[in-house]
Amino acid sequence: MDDAIDDIFEVDPGWAAIQRSIEHDAEYVGVLPPCVLSENYECDGCIAENVEGCPVGSDGGYRAYLANLRDSLIEHQIEHQKERAARIRLLQGILRRHKLPLHWEYIALLAMKEAPGLFESKESVRGFLFFNRDVFTVIHEGVFILAKYQL
Ligand SMILES: [Zn+2]
Repeated sequence: MDDAIDDIFEVDPGWAAIQRSIEHDAEYVGVLPPCVLSENYECDGCIAENVEGCPVGSDGGYRAYLANLRDSLIEHQIEHQKERAARIRLLQGILRRHKLPLHWEYIALLAMKEAPGLFESKESVRGFLFFNRDVFTVIHEGVFILAKYQL
């Protein structure tokens, strides 16, 4: 019986937590353990450095999996940046053409007509205007101009 229990814990129980942390960092932070990045799988500074000779460094399949998680995140970030740039170009264009401060509802109406699909809803246009203060400035309640009067 004791042997069976020992078998269950053959894998270090601490490893599961470390693994979750490593996968979280790869998937959401974009950070990989040093042994994934180094040519010879050196674990200096690796979170799993002291776990039975680091299971990460010794498992090629797992290293590839982690690299894949990280690459997916970067791909997603690039897509997100492209989308943000397209949204800014569109809204800047609207404000530039009008050369006037505009209410967000009117900006949203034009934006959704000009580029259907770039924003999910009128409210999402408002949120985008509010959260990109480096580009858009509120001058009255709900009324926006380009920051630094870039008209
Ligand atoms: Zn390692």
